[in-house]
Amino acid sequence: MKTKRFILQENELPRQWYNIQADMVNKPLPLLHPGTKEPLKPEDLYPIFAEELSRQELNQTDSFIDIPEPVLEKYTYYRSTPLVRAYGLEKALDTPAHIYFKNESVSPVGSHKLNSALAQAYYCKMEGVKNITTETGAGQWGTALSYAASVFGLDAAVYQVKISYEQKPYRRSVMQVFGAQVTPSPSMSTRAGKDILTVNPNYQGSLGTAISEAVELAQMTPDCKYTLGSVLSHVTLHQTIIGLEAEKQMEMAGEYPDVVIACFGGGSNFGGISFPFMRHNILDGKKTRFIAAEPASCPKLTKGKFEYDFGDETGYTPLLPMFTLGHKFSPANIHAGGLRYHGAGVIVSQLLKDGYMEATDIEQLDSFKAGCLFAKAEGIVPAPESCHAIAATINEAMKCKESGESKVLLFNLSGHGLMDMSAYDQYLAGDLVNFSYNG
Ligand SMILES: *Cc1c(COP(=O)(O)O)cnc(C)c1O
Repeated sequence: MKTKRFILQENELPRQWYNIQADMVNKPLPLLHPGTKEPLKPEDLYPIFAEELSRQELNQTDSFIDIPEPVLEKYTYYRSTPLVRAYGLEKALDTPAHIYFKNESVSPVGSHKLNSALAQAYYCKMEGVKNITTETGAGQWGTALSYAASVFGLDAAVYQVKISYEQKPYRRSVMQVFGAQVTPSPSMSTRAGKDILTVNPNYQGSLGTAISEAVELAQMTPDCKYTLGSVLSHVTLHQTIIGLEAEKQMEMAGEYPDVVIACFGGGSNFGGISFPFMRHNILDGKKTRFIAAEPASCPKLTKGKFEYDFGDETGYTPLLPMFTLGHKFSPANIHAGGLRYHGAGVIVSQLLKDGYMEATDIEQLDSFKAGCLFAKAEGIVPAPESCHAIAATINEAMKCKESGESKVLLFNLSGHGLMDMSAYDQYLAGDLVNFSYNG
């Protein structure tokens, strides 16, 4: 029998995260204070984020950072996640490519987001924080944070983008099961929310707006910190557990990836699976390609500009040097809610600029077509976000079929889609459309 899944035992788990900033030839440009426009120091972030997370955010010197023991212990509840050889998908495509995927959908909350949520909640707890706030788009981050908050004994307040609050009621229920307080955004509970609703009472919300609301709450509330599920460098740092495990697991499979692929919202699951392999491109002359798959309707990497921009709609956050569609960009209501964000993290933005990675954009209908093919071939219904990575992987596998090459393709299955069945219903009924970008 051929080996299908590669698993690491608890004592084989990586004990450190990988910080690519330390190895980058061109470091990311500094984050700028929104008021003074001066480069940020970690202390400037302390009012909003836990101190250790603020230091991790700007750490450009340590290649590896220890994973605290209590976080590692919680990781063992679901890690390692399996590295899976996609024999079923290879057969369905009749491709000579060797396709592997890292199955982050087995986490208790169904996505990779828990890898950073546990770390963030832990550091907040250690620093005496009582409440944590955040925003959530599709609901995966809010779910992960709600669970992580309950694990470490914190209260969580989650602003959920209104469109997904309405489209995905069970996400809200799951967050409430974990004890979180969930508010649809924009709401009247913050100045940022009120301002937007005054101009446009029917606004369906966006991640940018929900971030403004959560940051505002953190600033106004004692012992309260804000947490973010993507975009920032410390989030991607925590996600490198994915690629570090995959590196060991690929070794067990006796292969090394020629191409690494992940979907792209703010860059955390992409960086998480890619950076440990990209390290070998930077340091050891490996030639692996890295492909970020973004939605055609929100194409910051392929059609955005590299410039300083705010991370949120209102302009509360520091200015970030990134590929962006502009912080006022309002993304189409695609079902891959986790990919509806106007900008890319500063590390990936610099790496894209310097040619270490590529980006491709995927139409909504192509993403669901790929997702259904994958579901039938491998038995897992993927998250609409992950469908973008699958579609990009299929494109590469079909190129291998044309050229007859047996390339090794590795993609990240960032989450399952069992909470997204209304989107699949609409796709199967022929009611979904593509959205063009006309920015
Ligand atoms: C949040 C999310 C994404 C996008 O976020 P990144 O930070 O770009 O990884 C992708 N897939 C799933 C399942 C998500 O929950």
